[in-house]
Amino acid sequence: PLRLTHLKLAGFKSFVDPTTLHLHGQRVGIVGPNGCGKSNVMEAIRWVLGESSARELRGDSMQDVIFNGSLNRKPVSRASVELHFDNSLGGAAGQWSQYAEIVVKRVLERDGNSSYIINNQQVRRRDITDLFMGTGVGTRASYAIIGQNTISRIVEAKPEEMRVFLEEAAGVSKYKERRRETELR
Ligand code: ATP
Ligand code: MG
Repeated sequence: PLRLTHLKLAGFKSFVDPTTLHLHGQRVGIVGPNGCGKSNVMEAIRWVLGESSARELRGDSMQDVIFNGSLNRKPVSRASVELHFDNSLGGAAGQWSQYAEIVVKRVLERDGNSSYIINNQQVRRRDITDLFMGTGVGTRASYAIIGQNTISRIVEAKPEEMRVFLEEAAGVSKYKERRRETELR
């Protein structure tokens, strides 16, 4: 399986200076005082994975993820976040399976220019969701990222919403079906 080894943030929310966060071992805890940026780290991960709702990231518009200045720092013009995954045990499908490391990156400029990049290749948002489809990572039915309200969302899910979670967990998302059909052709 793909394993997230480290992430690099720059200009994303409170992480104005380039910052690398290493995730050593199987379990990592992020601790710190209120407002130090713990939730921002989780949001950075969701953002790279294709989160398209500014509200889910506690903003009014997507540009709100860009560092917007503080008492002694000017706002910056772009936010970028990279997720580095170890793929040496496999986990990435298709054209990405050959790489020992998968780097997934998203960049947003204040003028609205936005890009997704996998291993230095510009890709579509769709390619990011495809890469993680059926792994439990991703945004649609992510159970890899359990937010403060996800537990109740699952517990209170209507049957058809529950099915989306279950299909993702079982890896039988429609995408896989479609891909198999394409490969058979
Ligand atoms: P808590 O323990 O209260 O949950 P936390 O560690 O989760 O706190 P976050 O919510 O991640 O903290 O970080 C909040 C901080 O991030 C606030 O100081 C806020 O001003 C800052 N912040 C959020 N967005 C931006 C932005 N676009 N530019 C600058 N700072 C930002
Ligand atoms: Mg928080």
